[in-house]
Amino acid sequence: MGELSSFLKKKKRSFPIGLSGKTGMGYILTGGISPLSRSRGLAIDQMMEIKGFWGNGREFHLLRPTTKNDSTFEWKALCGAAIFLGVITKVRLKTQPLRQLLSWTANLSFSQLSECINQAESWPESLSFQWIYGEDIFAHAIGEIKNTDNESGLLNLLERLPFSRNRKINKFNDLNSLPNLSLGNNKSNNSNHSEVLGLLGPAWQENNTKVLKVLKDLINKRPNKSCYIASQQLGGLTQINNLDTSFIHRDAVWKPWINGAWEAYDQSKKTITLEWMKECWNDLEFICPGVHLAQIHPHLDWHEKELSSAFKDWLPKLQEIKSIYDPSNVMPPLN
Ligand SMILES: Cc1cc2nc3c(=O)[nH]c(=O)nc-3n(C[C@H](O)[C@H](O)[C@H](O)COP(=O)(O)OP(=O)(O)OC[C@H]3O[C@@H](n4cnc5c(N)ncnc54)[C@H](O)[C@@H]3O)c2cc1C
Repeated sequence: MGELSSFLKKKKRSFPIGLSGKTGMGYILTGGISPLSRSRGLAIDQMMEIKGFWGNGREFHLLRPTTKNDSTFEWKALCGAAIFLGVITKVRLKTQPLRQLLSWTANLSFSQLSECINQAESWPESLSFQWIYGEDIFAHAIGEIKNTDNESGLLNLLERLPFSRNRKINKFNDLNSLPNLSLGNNKSNNSNHSEVLGLLGPAWQENNTKVLKVLKDLINKRPNKSCYIASQQLGGLTQINNLDTSFIHRDAVWKPWINGAWEAYDQSKKTITLEWMKECWNDLEFICPGVHLAQIHPHLDWHEKELSSAFKDWLPKLQEIKSIYDPSNVMPPLN
């Protein structure tokens, strides 16, 4: 995605890549939630054409339907669930004008995180809020500058955000140049292994204090210092579903993800961390009923649950499509 972003920058165009330039095609195929998704939609919403081979070996080439009535189950399935069905060899994507970005980063206290989330829930679509909570709390707000008026409006909103230290407000030329959403004192530890589970849910609103308390309890009992919970903000255009896709949680406003880490090759610590992740999921499910299958876990006992939370009522039809196009389960399983 970083290479795509850099290539498009030269043409003064952009694509809503995610929080890291390091991800590949899987970012697009699994939905693709960008800090700009609130104003640009998901990565799958930019898909105009898709080519590849179903799991059964047959080639396919589909064009984006022009109306809802023209849409097919195959198109819907490939937009968000392609990784279960076939190998994608080519996509044609819609690009957008390149605009400068406003970036606000800061360390927050627990109560400041609560206040920031509250404020972000009433922001315009051109601004989004991301946070990571582990040893410390770090947040990153990203806004797209459309014109001078809009820039001062965004700046006003950013200046209202509370922070405890290290607040920086900067301008960047593209998504790939933005600072990482990471905890400075929690740099990726190569001697750790990890799993990630992405959840999806509505705005917290009056549940804000309750959710934050749940988060604090979970973070306090995390089994490894590299475990954390982070979140991206959706809403706005992300919720517009002009064509059916397999990303069914269009009403989601937050995508919290749980990062569970343990010392590599230590099976007992791995079990403890996976139990902690399940506890996080269970405790947050009241506010995050959905799952974003950016990471899949066919090797874990929660695979069936993550499939049903990701696709809900659409899952049986998706399984039927898989039984036609990938009957031998060449691709990852959908049950
Ligand atoms: C640092 C980091 C930041 C991230 N930020 C975001 C973010 O902001 N928003 C977001 O939505 N997600 C984000 N993710 C999640 C990421 O988008 C998913 O993990 C995604 O699946 C990664 O795809 P990949 O191609 O890089 O990885 P891979 O592990 O290579 O692929 C992931 C899955 O996609 C399948 N796949 C890949 N290419 C194809 C293909 N051509 N045809 C069929 N199947 C294929 C693979 O088989 C695998 O199952 C982030 C992940 C990381 C590590």
